[in-house]
Amino acid sequence: MPDKDERKVTPRSQDFAAWYNDIVLRAELADYSPVRGCIVFRPDGFAIWESLRDELDRRIKRTGARNAYFPLFIPQSFLRKEAQHVEGFAPEVAAVTHGGGQELEEPLIVRPTSETIIHHMFGQWIHSYRDLPLMVNQWCNVVRWEMRTRMFLRTTEFLWQEGHTAHATSEEAQRETLTILELYKSFVEDFLAIPLVVGRKSAAERFPGAEETYAIEGLMGDGRALQCGTSHFLGQNFAKAFEIKYLDEQNQLQYAWQTSWGVSTRLLGAIIMVHGDDQGLRLPPTVAATQVVIVPIARKPEEAASVLAAAKQVCESLESAGIRVRLDSRDGLSPGFKFNDWEMRGVPLRIEIGPRDVAAGQVVFARRDLKGPAAKSTAPAAEAAPRASVLLGEIKQSLYQQALAWMQRETREFQTYPELKKQMEGEGGGGFASVFWCGSPDCETRIREETRATCRAIPFNQSHPAGTCIVCGEPASERAFFAKSY
Ligand SMILES: [Zn+2]
Repeated sequence: MPDKDERKVTPRSQDFAAWYNDIVLRAELADYSPVRGCIVFRPDGFAIWESLRDELDRRIKRTGARNAYFPLFIPQSFLRKEAQHVEGFAPEVAAVTHGGGQELEEPLIVRPTSETIIHHMFGQWIHSYRDLPLMVNQWCNVVRWEMRTRMFLRTTEFLWQEGHTAHATSEEAQRETLTILELYKSFVEDFLAIPLVVGRKSAAERFPGAEETYAIEGLMGDGRALQCGTSHFLGQNFAKAFEIKYLDEQNQLQYAWQTSWGVSTRLLGAIIMVHGDDQGLRLPPTVAATQVVIVPIARKPEEAASVLAAAKQVCESLESAGIRVRLDSRDGLSPGFKFNDWEMRGVPLRIEIGPRDVAAGQVVFARRDLKGPAAKSTAPAAEAAPRASVLLGEIKQSLYQQALAWMQRETREFQTYPELKKQMEGEGGGGFASVFWCGSPDCETRIREETRATCRAIPFNQSHPAGTCIVCGEPASERAFFAKSY
C-alpha cells in the first residue's frame, strides 16, 4: 500500500500549477511522453474525452454537419494562400522536409488546423448553389509547436474537432457561427457543468483570417480565464484564396461564405481546474467513466461474504438502471484507502455497505461534491438505484452552482484604471474584470502590457447606459471582459 503522504496533492491554495499537475498524474489522466511537449492520454483521461466527444458529436450532427477526415499533411504552399492565416500560424508550424529517405520537393506542413486543405477540397466540390450549405466536421489531432507546454492546456499535439462550413450568403454563415457558439455554450454548461462568459473577440484576439471570432470563456479555480471553444465567421477571405465559387440561382458566379469552429482536449483541463479540489478530481457524472463506486466494508472475515453479496446485488441493480457503476472488492486495501483513491479519481458518488447496513437493509451514499455530514445519506438497499440516479443529477447541478458562485464572486466591475491594475497585480489570477473599453487597439495593448490581462470576450446584448473607456476616457458603449488567461 503506498504511503499516505505520498498520495497527497499540493494544496490548491498553495500552488495551483503544482496542484493541477499532481491531479493529472495521480488521477492517472495523462503522463509526460518521451517527446517534449506531447502527452500520453491514459485510459482514465481518455475515457473523459470519449464521453465528451460522443455527446458533442451527437449535438453537432443534429445541426446538419457530417463527419469527414482530411489528411494530416498539408502542402506548404496552401498555408501561404491566406495572408493573415500564414502570419498567425507560421511561428508554430511543424514541417516534414524528408520522406522515404529523400528531401521532398515541397515541404509538408503537419496541420495546425485544417482550413487550407479543407477549403482546397471545397473548391473542387462546390459548383452550384445546390451544393450549399456544405458542412463538415472532423475529429483529429493537430500540431502546434509550443515553446511552453502544460498538460491538456497547451501541448504540441492535441486532439480536437474542427467544423468547416460553406454557405451561399453572409447572413447564413453568420447564423451558423452563432448556432455553433450557442451549441458549445449549452454543451459546456449542461454537460461539463462549467459556467461561461460568451461573446465576440476583439480584433487582436481573432482567429488569423477570420472576420469575426466568438468564444466561450470559463474561469478556472485560480482566477484565470480559459478559452473553452471558438466559432469563427470567415467571411469570403478563404473562399477568395481557395477559389470556392458557386453559380447562384441567377447563374452568377459568387464566392461562398464560410465558418470554422472547434473545441479541444483543453476542455479536460477546464474540468480539472473548475471542479477539482485538494482531495483530487471531481467529475460531473455526465463525463465520469465510473459514476458510482461501491465499497464493501467488512472488518471481520466472517462478515465479508454477506457484505460482498449485498454489494453485488446493489451493483447489479445500478447496472440495470444504466448507471456506470464499479464494485471495489480489492483485497488487502483499507476502506479509507479506497475512499481516498476514488475521491482522487473524481468518482461523483460512493456507496458504502458494512455489516450494520446489511442488517438494516440499507446503503450509505457519500457525494464527492460536498464535504462533511452534508455529503452523506442513507437509503434502503432496494431503492439504491433510483436514489443514485437522483443524486447524480443533483451532483451535476451542485458542481455547476459551485462553479457559478465562484465565477460571480470573481467577476468585478472597475471604473478606474488603477483599480484594474491593482486587481491584476501578482502572480495569481485576478478573475474577470468587466470594464468599459472604447475598442481602440492602443487601449487594449496598454491593458495587456501593463496588467497581463487580455480581452477575453465582449458579451452580447449589453443593456446599460454608455460609459467611458477605462484607459483613455473616451466614450465607450460596451463593456469587455478582461482576464489573465491560459
Ligand atoms: Zn480607450
